[in-house]
Order: sequence, then structure tokens, then C-alpha cells
Amino acid sequence: MRIKSVQAWWVRVPIEVAKQHRSDFGQVTTFDAAILRIETVDGLVGWGEGKNAAGSAGSYGALVHMLNHEIAPQLIGRDPADIGIIWEMLYNGVRHETAAHAGHAMPQLARRGMSVAAISAVDIALWDILGKSLGQPVWRLLGGRKVERMQAYASGGWAPADAIGEQLKSYIAKGGFKALKMRVGAMDGAPHVSAARVRAARQAIGPDVELMVDAHGTYTVAEAKRFIGLTADLDLAWFEEPLIADDKSGMAEVRASGSTPIATGESEATRYAFRDLAVLKSADIFQPDPAFCGGISEAMKIGTIASAFNLRFAPHLWAGAPCFFAGLHVCAASPASFIIEYSLGANPMIHDLVEETVEAKNGMIAIPEKPGLGFTISERFLEAHAQRG
Ligand SMILES: [Mg+2]
Repeated sequence: MRIKSVQAWWVRVPIEVAKQHRSDFGQVTTFDAAILRIETVDGLVGWGEGKNAAGSAGSYGALVHMLNHEIAPQLIGRDPADIGIIWEMLYNGVRHETAAHAGHAMPQLARRGMSVAAISAVDIALWDILGKSLGQPVWRLLGGRKVERMQAYASGGWAPADAIGEQLKSYIAKGGFKALKMRVGAMDGAPHVSAARVRAARQAIGPDVELMVDAHGTYTVAEAKRFIGLTADLDLAWFEEPLIADDKSGMAEVRASGSTPIATGESEATRYAFRDLAVLKSADIFQPDPAFCGGISEAMKIGTIASAFNLRFAPHLWAGAPCFFAGLHVCAASPASFIIEYSLGANPMIHDLVEETVEAKNGMIAIPEKPGLGFTISERFLEAHAQRG
């Protein structure tokens, strides 16, 4: 097996006005992603995704250019089954052979951010190819799946206090979810406004539905502590990204200030960043994004760190189909996983980019059975919204 071609596109899908929402990321009018296609000499095709924006909308010209003009030439002619070797080659750059012989990383200077987003896209596509070449779903190559269906949570919740209850209950009606996540933080202006929205949400859904909140990293340490104090009686399942990712010790201080579990990691990349979160006791739940953290390979390593530190693992899957499906396989195979993120905002990059129907039933999502990642890209939809970088 050899890699014949590597092609990335910036896919930008407009979201119709009635389905748009507003958060601290502004009015979300498009869903953007870097979608990668790798084809082997024998005609196998794998799909990957890289991400440089946590929200749906983002600018992907540079990432797509990097994939097409800097990464692609390094992949042509390689055996696509060399997934881990290729990961380390791309991460270590010109010193990759020295690093391989020495047994430790010697990464290039630009070792985070867009570089690892590009590696993520490659890694996801190579796992897709390996699975297809062996006729097996990726989870089987990762050690098997622990369940056939996994609990999912509805991810959304932007409405003000007087409407948040109805918004969350509409998610339950749609997918039978028993766990819901709502947004808080800077979009509300002050912690007490967010706390009032969360209180209204809890009153509307009752005590038996799990409720999580996500601040998108927009609080200071002091604000996050105030929010925890104001919501201490609301039995939150987790408080996500209270602070920016660059304040890991502040995150530990927030975590120690109350009993609300802290979740974080969608803005973090590589095993090294999650090692620091674990050692600093900054979080209870790790949330790597497969399209940003380093792909399926790195997400599995991060899940292992979570397990070793007796923490849990709930990948960030607000994403396009390659990343979302990658997350399903990782969750199926990881001992520390327990729940899947399922976006209730407009998400054409999952629902329209693939031929399959992706849906939650009774709050559960099926782990794919088909070889590879288990989806078929809609070439017609891709062509309609793709531009080459
Ligand atoms: Mg989040």
C-alpha cells in the first residue's frame, strides 16, 4: 500500500438564518472545516479533518495550504499503515530520524496549533484507510469496542433565562437525551446572569437529567469561582473550560474551590498538554478534539493518560463528520470514555457531508460497524462547498 495523492479543501457551508445561534463567538453564519482526502495507489480513500477554530466558523486557508503544499509532498509514496511513524515524522520535522533513534521527541518550533491540526487530519485519514484496507471498523484496530451504543449529550443551550428551559426540553424531545450542555460565560456579561440561566434550566428539566455548562474559556479565576459558588446547589455534571487553556494552574485553583467537576481540553493539543493538566490536577474530564489534538492516535494516548490518573474522557466532537466519527471510534475503544458530544446547533458538516444519517435515539448513538471510520462522503456536497487552498 502506498499513498498516491493528498488533497485538502476549505469547506465552508452557510447556515440558514433560522438555524443560526449567537454566543461569545458571535453570530454563527457558516460551518467551516479543513477536509482532507488521501488516496492510495490501489484506490483506497481515507478522509480526515483538521481544525483551527473551536466554534463552527473559522478561517482555513492557511491550514489547507499547509496540508496541500507542505504536508502532502512528505506523504506521497509512504505506506499509509505507518500511522504512528508518520505522526512522529510530521511532529519532529527535520530531526525526525534523530528523534526516532534517540527515543524521545525533538519537535519543530511550530509544534502546536496549526501544525498539530494538520497532523490530526492526516492521522484520521490514515486510520480510515487502514480500516478499509483490512475490512474492519477502526475501533477494532484500537482494541475493540466496549459498547455497541454509547450515551450522548445534547450540546447547545444559548437561550436567555426565560427560554433556556424550553430550548433544552426541545433537545430531549428530539433525541431522548438524558444529559444536556448549555453555554455560559462572556456571552452573558456577568457570572450571576449565567447562574440565573442555569438555575432556570435546572428547574425546567428537573433533577434527573444531567446538566453541564461550558464557558468557552471566558472567565477569570475569580469569576469562575463566583460562578461555582452561585451554582453549587444545581448539581452540575461538569463546568467546561472555565478559563483559557493557557492558565492551567488557574484551572487547578478553580477546581479546588468547589465540588463541581472541571472539564477541559478542546483547546489543547498533544499528550504533553494533557500530561500537564493531569499533573497540575487542573481537570476531572479531558476533552481532546480529534481534529486538533493530533488525531485518533493522540486522542487514544490522551485517553490513556486520563485513565492512568483516574480521570475521565469525553472528546470534543462539535465537528465535521471525519472528526465526529473518529471520536466515536476513540470513545468506543477508550477505557476512560463515558459520553459523546452531539451538537444541537446547525451542523451541515456532519449531517449533509456524509450519505449516512447520524442521529441519537433514546439519548444513545451507535458505534459505526462499517470498515474504516464508517461513513461515505457526499462528493456532490463537498464539491458544492469546497475551495482548494
Ligand atoms: Mg466546549
